[in-house]
Amino acid sequence: MIIQRVVLNSRPGKNGNPVAENFRIEEVNLPDNINEGQVQVKTLYLSVDPYMVEPQLVNGHLSYFLGAIGMPGLTSLIGIQEKGHVTAGSNQTMVVSGAAGACGSLAGQIGHLMGCSRVVGICGTQEKCLLLTSELGFDAAINYKKGNVAEQLRELCPAGVDVYFDNVGGDISDTVISQMNRNSHIILCGQISQYNKDVPYPPPLPSAVEAIQKERNITRERFLVLNYKDRFESGILQLSQWFKEGKLKIKETMINGLENMGVAFQSMMTGGNIGKQIVCISEETSL
Ligand code: NAP
Repeated sequence: MIIQRVVLNSRPGKNGNPVAENFRIEEVNLPDNINEGQVQVKTLYLSVDPYMVEPQLVNGHLSYFLGAIGMPGLTSLIGIQEKGHVTAGSNQTMVVSGAAGACGSLAGQIGHLMGCSRVVGICGTQEKCLLLTSELGFDAAINYKKGNVAEQLRELCPAGVDVYFDNVGGDISDTVISQMNRNSHIILCGQISQYNKDVPYPPPLPSAVEAIQKERNITRERFLVLNYKDRFESGILQLSQWFKEGKLKIKETMINGLENMGVAFQSMMTGGNIGKQIVCISEETSL
């Protein structure tokens, strides 16, 4: 089987614009049959993005393009901009679930940067809670695996919840929504607690919680970062600027070796990561 592949032909000059000739197409012959343990994939779409090959945006820390200065960072930023209705100076309280993960750890910080007066994170260990409050500027954090989440939330959000950045869904979100204010907003980022269940997306709320949501006019609209591609370039520049100014702290959890991809995925799905889970294939950045 003859296939085409795109190969980096030359690097753009330091001050030069990239040109099409930086890439070349090669034809290669692949065996028609695959062996046990191999997979065959067909590429349907390729993404080309303005912030590729710009190491100075991340001070040379290239893996940040997979996290804070990449898709998860854009998800947090654009999610809050589009669905959060954050208004600086209006004393809003934001709650973030999955708060120590890739999107969550940024969402709380961005919530503060955009003007929320109080940000409370919910996550799965004491270590993560401590990180949120001591390093990432969260005002308080709740370990959902310990104690009564509803009681702690009531204590830590005495004026109720105005903006909820929801990464997890399920019981945690039902508890938060029950304490949300009238005309408040859910940023429906993800529902990780429901992903391995046979339910539609977004998962319907239990009827009592849905009644609260409707009665209090709480918005809960679908959000998908990929629908905002025209905002990616400005978003990356904004995230990079905050990072360079020291306003956005970036966390990642690195596992080495392609062979550990599955371990890394499983670990991320079960809370083993702080910040973005990364698999490092090679630290050698030159080709
Ligand atoms: P992540 O938060 O870095 O990693 C997943 C975290 O979820 C784990 O570390 C774990 O932390 C938590 N978790 C796992 N099972 C849970 C459960 N049953 N209940 C509560 N927490 C649980 O992952 P991410 O890449 O930033 O993604 C976060 C969410 O954003 C996901 O739902 C993802 O699908 C969504 N997302 C949406 C968009 C979009 O466009 N809408 C884009 C990217 C990502 P704990 O230790 O705290 O349990």
